[in-house]
Amino acid sequence: MLRVRVLGGGREVGRAAVTVSLGDGRQSLLLDYGVNFDEEDKPRFPEHVKPSEVAGLVLTHAHLDHVGAAPMLHVTSKVSTVATALTKRLCEIMIKDFIKISGYYLPYEEVDLYNMIDGIPDYSYENEVQLGDYRVKLLNAGHIPGSSMAYVEAGEYSVVYTGDVNTIDTRLVSRARVSGVKADVVIIEGTYGWVKHPPRELVEKEFLEAIKEVTDRGGNVLIPAFSLGRAQEILTLLYEGFEGNVFYDGMIRQIYEVFISYPEYINKYEELLKSKEEFKPVVRPSQRRRIVDGRGNVIVASAGMLKGGPAVYYLKKLAGDPLNAVFMVSYQAPGTPGRHLLEDGIPSEEVGPVKARVQWFDFSSHAGVDGLLELLKSFSNVKHVVVVHTSEKAGKYFTEKIRETMNDVSVHLPHNNEEIMIE
Ligand SMILES: [Zn+2]
Ligand SMILES: [Zn+2]
Repeated sequence: MLRVRVLGGGREVGRAAVTVSLGDGRQSLLLDYGVNFDEEDKPRFPEHVKPSEVAGLVLTHAHLDHVGAAPMLHVTSKVSTVATALTKRLCEIMIKDFIKISGYYLPYEEVDLYNMIDGIPDYSYENEVQLGDYRVKLLNAGHIPGSSMAYVEAGEYSVVYTGDVNTIDTRLVSRARVSGVKADVVIIEGTYGWVKHPPRELVEKEFLEAIKEVTDRGGNVLIPAFSLGRAQEILTLLYEGFEGNVFYDGMIRQIYEVFISYPEYINKYEELLKSKEEFKPVVRPSQRRRIVDGRGNVIVASAGMLKGGPAVYYLKKLAGDPLNAVFMVSYQAPGTPGRHLLEDGIPSEEVGPVKARVQWFDFSSHAGVDGLLELLKSFSNVKHVVVVHTSEKAGKYFTEKIRETMNDVSVHLPHNNEEIMIE
């Protein structure tokens, strides 16, 4: 008997946390331990788990919705934790920043973060590690640099937990490949389980043309972007396809440096390196003023949903002129300023109505429904599929599609705290 219990990310996107367990009082294996945020931007945590009941923790990648709660397990004890070397480094940066911004709401401190980080061995794809009853191997997930899927052997069962996954090649990471990997149970994300993404080349072409249009007429373009992954993907694309002044601002700078020092995790490393050499970081407030007063400038700045960071400064300065543009390239969660900007043209009271051109481009780092189905079918021996990290709507659509296209497979769409027993 294998038990799969969903502690977070059941019919919701974020606070990913799943345990796999052989039962009979044996310890379980914890896969991710993340957070998400309520309407007031306060962090929400997954169901509690006792460190003494956990044989090990796998962190698939450094986004806070997968790792933001993990240091909680290292406050009073130690839990053996594995992640790729790059994820380990990025976790340190992301969680330190999280403590700086939301520390008041967190049940752990920086010292607990370092207890966790210092205990993670240097680890890469395809290495195997034994955590109690569970043998774990990390496979490339194609989502962001360093991201992995967890392949787990538990007794007679083989299980794959995809974490967040992408099935197309991007500049930063090559796509997830699993052909022939045996998985009796696949625990798969379904963020875009109801979406067909447009072909990436088409999105890139439209994006570059739109930027050229705006800058040719003397307008400035603000591109709010997530500082981990999306920003560097966009900067590398701009290096290849746009000639003009490009600047980047915010935590993007620090993560750019980290990516540069981990070439083995980057798909188009040369292009990434050249883009960093070519484009200019913004390090002083006076530079910001010169950029917004100038013409034909492109600024990639965090935060991606305009919840804060230098992007908000640029937005305020550029919003009033229809010659300028704000091009959104990241997911916009409901209730965020970025989502408000797309839906009604007013990101916040503070900024007011935006007269600049506003447009959204689908640069998702999650597979859409076709990619997810293709991925599922390329495993061998699949008997159970558990869909997590998905909205109610996307989850229902996706599970229906799985039932339509795969025979003899039990499909589950669990709620939080639900346990699935597998014979
Ligand atoms: Zn992610
Ligand atoms: Zn996620």
